Amino acid sequence: MSSTFLVALGSNRRHHLYGLPRDVVHAAMEELSALGTVTARSPVISSAPMGAARRRFANAAALIESEYDPESMLAGLKWLESEFGRRGSRRWGDRVLDLDIVLWSGGVWRSRALTIPHQSFRERGFVLTPASAIAPDWRDPVSGQNVRQLKARLTRKATLPR
Ligand code: AMP
Repeated sequence: MSSTFLVALGSNRRHHLYGLPRDVVHAAMEELSALGTVTARSPVISSAPMGAARRRFANAAALIESEYDPESMLAGLKWLESEFGRRGSRRWGDRVLDLDIVLWSGGVWRSRALTIPHQSFRERGFVLTPASAIAPDWRDPVSGQNVRQLKARLTRKATLPR
C-alpha cells in the first residue's frame, strides 16, 4: 500500500558536482524519485542561516508517493543525504543536504528515531513557505490546522509588535 510524504529539503554548502546550494536542492528533488514517485516539487527559496550555520540556505519541499513505511523512508532519505556527502552529525551546522519528513498521509508516527509530523515544522517559515506552494490544504493531524493556516499564523507572529 502506498502513502504520501511531504519532505523538506535544505542545503547551504556547495557540492563539488552540483554546485550552489540551490542547484544541490534541485538535484536532490530529482534524486528523490529513487524512493517513490515525486508528484510535486516546490520552487526553491533562499532563507537566513540558523544556529551554528554561517551561510544562507536553499530550501524546498516535495511530495513523494511511496510504498515505503516511515522508517524505510527515513533510511532512504539518510542514504540520499550521505550520497550528497553530508559530513558528521553536528546539528545546525553547514550541510550539503538535509532532508526531513514533515507530514505523512498515514498521520502520526512516533518512534525513537522518528517523529511525524516533524516536531518543529510549524515554527519554520523555510518549511511552511515551500510546503504551502505544493500542499496548502494538507491538515496537520496534531494542531488541526492546514499548511496554509500554519504559514499565516507564523507570518502574523513574526509581524506582531514586541
Ligand atoms: P537533523 O539532521 O538535525 O534534521 O536530525 C536528523 C535526525 O532526526 C535523524 O537522524 C532522525 O532520526 C531524527 N528525526 C526525528 N524526526 C524526524 C523527521 N520527521 N524527519 C527526519 N528526521 C527525523
